[in-house]
Amino acid sequence: MRPWNFSAGPSALPLEVLQQAAEEMTDWHGSGMSVMEMSHRGKQFTQIRNEAEADLRELLAVPEDYEVLFMQGGATAENAIVPLNLIGRRSSGKADYILSGIWSNKSHKEAERYGDIAVAASSGSEIMLDGQTQSPWTWFPAVDSWQLRSDASYLHLCSNETIGGVEFSAWPDMAALGAPDVPLVADASSHFLSRTIDFSKASMVYAGAQKNAGPAGVTVVIVRKELVGHAMPTCPSAFDYANVAGADSMFNTPPTYAIYIAGLVFKWLQRQGGVEAIEAANIAKAEALYSYLDTSDFYLSRVHVGSRSRMNVPFFLRDESLNSNFLAQADAAGLMQLKGHKSVGGMRASIYNAVPMEGVQALISYMQDFERRYG
Ligand SMILES: *Cc1c(COP(=O)(O)O)cnc(C)c1O
Repeated sequence: MRPWNFSAGPSALPLEVLQQAAEEMTDWHGSGMSVMEMSHRGKQFTQIRNEAEADLRELLAVPEDYEVLFMQGGATAENAIVPLNLIGRRSSGKADYILSGIWSNKSHKEAERYGDIAVAASSGSEIMLDGQTQSPWTWFPAVDSWQLRSDASYLHLCSNETIGGVEFSAWPDMAALGAPDVPLVADASSHFLSRTIDFSKASMVYAGAQKNAGPAGVTVVIVRKELVGHAMPTCPSAFDYANVAGADSMFNTPPTYAIYIAGLVFKWLQRQGGVEAIEAANIAKAEALYSYLDTSDFYLSRVHVGSRSRMNVPFFLRDESLNSNFLAQADAAGLMQLKGHKSVGGMRASIYNAVPMEGVQALISYMQDFERRYG
């Protein structure tokens, strides 16, 4: 059996997808070519791309008035590409950002180069929640605390902070917050396709594929059509959503192999019963792990209960001197890449779509066993 892989990204892919890619590696569907060797404008790759888009639209019920773009540069490049494309939508030149951890802070910092950027809310301080002190970046700012500018071009947030393990799910109606013309834009990289998306609330989501949707190299952008076509004159042509959309994501050579593998992941998801089915599985996985953490005197989760990510679960051994021992024995037991991000410390289990309940159970069993031996 393969070891269980808890990497935060690039991360585990479904074994079936890897096996199919291996079978098709040198000769895709009798074409005599690997997908890597095909012209991106040929009929075979056009079919691969079109099916990937159609399957993704079906999986997430993407409305007709949204573009689905396959881009490059990762979510990091989108930190610049988003303001370059959207700030010019309104004469104010303003955009608002919610800060909830490392990734949203990076987005905010990059955007400051392009306009009048304000922080609408931040979790970068200690707070009392449910009678407990929450440290910075372990909670998500409540919607009713957001300070919005109604003339902003957009509001940006990170809907799943991969490093802090903080997830946002209660997407508000911007009209009810007094900002009906402010579209909500989310970096959804690390929970994309783990749950449904309410496109009546989200005007744009983007995601680097390598967390939950495929290999590194392709960034998926789903954007309401009316937001496209307002790029600043200085926006690089290849990053202008209007150019990318107008050319069916082939303004220049797209990351063909990454799109092909992501397409195989989409078909795998359909075979699992779609996003609703995988979301139910993800809820069960997260519940199993958090409820174990919460009942243990040996481990703990520091993220506020209402903001805990279903995908990325940072946790700590109360006795941190056991950390390297825990990791070494986990590795030997076939539980890989559990070391926490250096800025947070401790451990982090990323339990993306491709890590089934069986993998989570294997992790919990190992943790129980370790606790019995060292607790
Ligand atoms: C990984 C990650 C990024 C950065 O992705 P790159 O592909 O390295 O640019 C940005 N945002 C979130 C939420 C992430 O998880």
